[in-house]
Amino acid sequence: MMGKDCNLPKPSTQFRVDHVPGRGFFVLDPGGEKCAGPFKDENKALMSRDAKQAAADAKAKRGPRACMACGHSFPSEGIHNRLCNDCKYRGSAPDPLHPSTRQRRAA
Ligand SMILES: [Zn+2]
Repeated sequence: MMGKDCNLPKPSTQFRVDHVPGRGFFVLDPGGEKCAGPFKDENKALMSRDAKQAAADAKAKRGPRACMACGHSFPSEGIHNRLCNDCKYRGSAPDPLHPSTRQRRAA
């Protein structure tokens, strides 16, 4: 009834903070296992989550990187992810006849 999962972009790679009443705040790993906590202070839990997320992202080489085809910086999902969305959906390398100078004409 309540669509609570509609704003989770990539649940399989995201650490998150869960509040357990009477216990405190726990950090859950992407698999849903408690990996830190309990914290009394939500901010401390969030900081712990961010640190774990950053470490996991670095390990998986997620984060901003330059597109292999066009050199544009984009948020990579991992070491396998070397093309920005534009290039990925277009095929591979930029079309030399039609460089990415798309002109939008606002009406
Ligand atoms: Zn690209």
